[in-house]
Amino acid sequence: MAKTIIESIAQKLRIIPDLDRDVTKGNLEPLRKFPSSDEWHDHIELDANSWPVRIEKKYSLVPTTCFNCESACGLLAYVDKETGQVSKFEGNPDHPGSRGRNCAKGPATINQIQDTERILYPMRRVGERGQGGWERISWDEALDEISTKIRTSLKTGAVDKVVYHVGRPGHEGFMNRVLKAWGVDGHNSHTNICSAGARTGYALWHKHDRPSPDHTNAKVILLTSSHLETGHYFNPHAQRILEGMMDGAKLIVIDPRLSNTAAMADHWLPTWPGSESALFLAWAKMIIERGLYDREFMETQVNWDAWMKAVHPDEPCDFDRFIELLVEEYAEYTPEFAAEECRIPVEQVIEVGEVVASAGTRLCTHVWRSASIGNLGGWQVSRTLHFLNVLTGSVGTEGGTSPNSWSKFKPELFDNPPDPDGWNELHFPPEYTLSHFEMSHILPHLIKDGRGSMDVYFTRVFNPVWTYPDGFSWMEMLQDKEAVGCHIAMTPTWNETAFFADYVLPMGHSAERHDVNSYATSSGKWVAFRQPVLREFARREGREVEFTHEVNPGEVWEEDEFWNELSWRIDDGTMGIRKHFMSPYREGEKITIDEYYQYLFERVPGLPEAAEKEGTDALGYMRKYGAFLIEESTYKKYEEEGWPTPSGKQEFYSETMIEFGYPEHSIPHYRQKSHVHPENLVGENEYCLLPNFRLPQHIHSRSANAKWLVEIAHKNPIWIHPKDARKLGVAEGDLLKIETEIGWFVDKVWVTEGIKPGVVGCSHHIGRWRRNQDAGNRFLTNTVSIEDNGDGKIRMRTVSGIEPWKSDDPDTNRIWWRDGGVHQNITHAVQPDPISGAHCWLQKVKLSRPGEGEEYGDIEVDQQKSFEYYKRWNDWAKERETHPRGERRPLWMKRPLGPRPEHWFITKEE
Ligand code: SF4
Repeated sequence: MAKTIIESIAQKLRIIPDLDRDVTKGNLEPLRKFPSSDEWHDHIELDANSWPVRIEKKYSLVPTTCFNCESACGLLAYVDKETGQVSKFEGNPDHPGSRGRNCAKGPATINQIQDTERILYPMRRVGERGQGGWERISWDEALDEISTKIRTSLKTGAVDKVVYHVGRPGHEGFMNRVLKAWGVDGHNSHTNICSAGARTGYALWHKHDRPSPDHTNAKVILLTSSHLETGHYFNPHAQRILEGMMDGAKLIVIDPRLSNTAAMADHWLPTWPGSESALFLAWAKMIIERGLYDREFMETQVNWDAWMKAVHPDEPCDFDRFIELLVEEYAEYTPEFAAEECRIPVEQVIEVGEVVASAGTRLCTHVWRSASIGNLGGWQVSRTLHFLNVLTGSVGTEGGTSPNSWSKFKPELFDNPPDPDGWNELHFPPEYTLSHFEMSHILPHLIKDGRGSMDVYFTRVFNPVWTYPDGFSWMEMLQDKEAVGCHIAMTPTWNETAFFADYVLPMGHSAERHDVNSYATSSGKWVAFRQPVLREFARREGREVEFTHEVNPGEVWEEDEFWNELSWRIDDGTMGIRKHFMSPYREGEKITIDEYYQYLFERVPGLPEAAEKEGTDALGYMRKYGAFLIEESTYKKYEEEGWPTPSGKQEFYSETMIEFGYPEHSIPHYRQKSHVHPENLVGENEYCLLPNFRLPQHIHSRSANAKWLVEIAHKNPIWIHPKDARKLGVAEGDLLKIETEIGWFVDKVWVTEGIKPGVVGCSHHIGRWRRNQDAGNRFLTNTVSIEDNGDGKIRMRTVSGIEPWKSDDPDTNRIWWRDGGVHQNITHAVQPDPISGAHCWLQKVKLSRPGEGEEYGDIEVDQQKSFEYYKRWNDWAKERETHPRGERRPLWMKRPLGPRPEHWFITKEE
């Protein structure tokens, strides 16, 4: 290809290399995308800042993985050999999931590491909890004081009072092992505000509760996701969606909002939120009626016969008859019905349905958050979406969708303590029999309801005061010492929840910690190593390091070593905890972090052999490359493993749903209309608020100190369609008051055709805040005041927006943006779906012009209403509570950290 004029000029100026060179002659090397791994410790490149003087800089490139979303893409840290510090991050070409590529959040790790406001030392509260006073303490003091509190709690015999609540997970099995060693049923997660709806729908089919789409090889890619493909899993999925499309795949996106992915789609269907199941069932009907189903897969892998025997006992149990009856069963799901529910043209339902129906075994579908976590009954979305895969036989195929567990490596750990001897009802209350998983978003409400308390509460990279609905309830709980005896926030950066802690412990960003990762980002199976890069650099340079905090900035530590040390100190020699933290290699000695990973990697299939070929061991291989591909592809594993359901088949018909009190949901249907169905929005100026979409540049709560990301996106206006703007008489930049069930917020209007009429949107990444007395994140936090106005009404006001400040980083004084957005989540009522337990994020809202004294950024919440509203939703679960055979939840369904078998049953006294 001929050079452009710009390239010719750039070449002359030596801004780019000589494009005319003939790499076939002489010893010229071809241009390469990445430095070769053989040269990673001796990498030389020119210093861009010194141009045109050519100054060589020497680097040691150390692989690690990104911590800014779950997918753990590979990063290469460029450690400057002269300064001994990390200069930048690029992609790791040897990581099978990300293959050298990253989204903006990966390289922005350098901003987080160099953040001038980060927490560098362990801190202990001074004054009352939540008042904002802190003092620096040593790790020794922190370990001693915290271990004493845990020991005191454990010695009471309680197994549910020491709790670890995880926001961003990412170290496979480590924490469950620690909690089991302590003997507590103390694992809590953020799943119920994230993926619980999708998980429930998938689990009903085949227990595996996550999908793994094979985008690369698909014929049709069908996405109902405003989450992964625009934010989470963004990079590994996006690159494979593009590959599939370049190979001819059609992309269909279902989303009321024109996401980045929808903008690239062949078909964008802006369906009404919560109506998606009606659409999928209409397409299912088309596939069945036209005989386009995969008979072989259906007949052999699906429990259709159970439905025949139970519902049509007088009919012959014959597959052809099953199909005839299925057509009758789904007669109501006509294209017209779907079009009416979804509020899209019937022609579009039919046209796109034909694309889906023609995909065969290369129909690649995906839903994660989006509608599944938005709506009452959102779990139906994944159940009906997967039905399309079942019908087309595209489950586990090349170009289809597989269960994620086939592609996820589960490490073998050096020691397995016994399961906890008890059941934590604050996490799994008996009325939520099918929840996936812990009912974490109603934790403050359950405690207020008198259903328990906690002695020691760890929040780990977790910020519910800001990310969760009804954040004032979290503040109330965290300030109540009867409810929470001691709160320890483990976080790499200040956040709204850490303001209400007793201890704040600085934990490392991705390049400052150990973790092992494995995620189903493609059809293969890989394992990756997140390692503290300066520790590995020190090792390469021949320096000994005992603990990671010795090489990290300040005294930033990592959790793995912290938990080992803490566990050791909890045990006064009588508790049997220490025996679970002994070296598998050195008799009678405490395990080291290197030994932990040595043991684990020695047991990764194929890794020791690959290491031997390189003249190293398994740990050495992972230190060098950062990742290992275990299997190229994991298709059709059911042929060896079967399906882990009660019937051993894909469960079209779920006896579990009948037994646990939901007989109307025994097969996939659209029986539960969303709480934001148009029937429920009948008041004047009532709209559906879509608050649960991600911006690709942001992490929920850890990007507020990443200046590059914040410069790109820092406000969250209300998206409103031009028709609705006209109806309400508002224009771009005008203020709107958005009233939820429990309060209101005031935001600015953004008029756009990228949102469905009748729906308004607001991103949930922005609106970060701090009070005058709080520190951190000044790139993205408004300064606010919080006033108690009596009668349970709490008002938050923006005192000032974002402002520049002087620091060692000249960029902090160059901040040009002032608007930090609005904290909308705090005005949302909790809405726990009675089946999946998921928080139903979508909100019924009323829009109006703000009244006198109601300014941009103002927020008000009525806490009495919030509790009453919780009770109403909680009652729906209680009304249907039933425990067949005394089972708390179906024994075959997953629960993270399952207690001993006897605790899965409710005893008579309870
Ligand atoms: S998708 Fe982006 S944020 Fe997520 S791990 Fe990859 S680079 Fe990091």
